[in-house]
Amino acid sequence: MEPRMYVCEYCKKEYLPKRRRVQKFCSDSCRVRKHQLKSSKISKELSLKENIVQKEKTKIEAVSFAGVGNAALGNLAVKTLSTLFTKEENKPATKGDILKLTKLIRYQEIRNLSKDLLGKKPFFDSFLCIVVYK
Ligand SMILES: [Zn+2]
Repeated sequence: MEPRMYVCEYCKKEYLPKRRRVQKFCSDSCRVRKHQLKSSKISKELSLKENIVQKEKTKIEAVSFAGVGNAALGNLAVKTLSTLFTKEENKPATKGDILKLTKLIRYQEIRNLSKDLLGKKPFFDSFLCIVVYK
């Protein structure tokens, strides 16, 4: 005896199929409801996954922010330490240093010239290449 009755995949009722092999539901409404259930399940799963991804992202961001903070602090600590332990003579010259140096070497006292009428000493201005009295 050939099985004539099918069981609906949605309402589980037995029914006589109009189209054998293709039909899975007793009616269009059952077919539609099953489809809606499926898609709502999928969307629920999707939103759950998204939620998880979001949470992971937040975790990663939180960690990396902490990481950046730690790195910045570490960098600062290293800089401070190296400043403390670098000998004065090994520190790089700043613009201020260079200006000081320039002022120091710009004027050199000329010893074989006599002072001027006001008693000022003669200096050679190595920038302008002139004698000045100061
Ligand atoms: Zn049904």
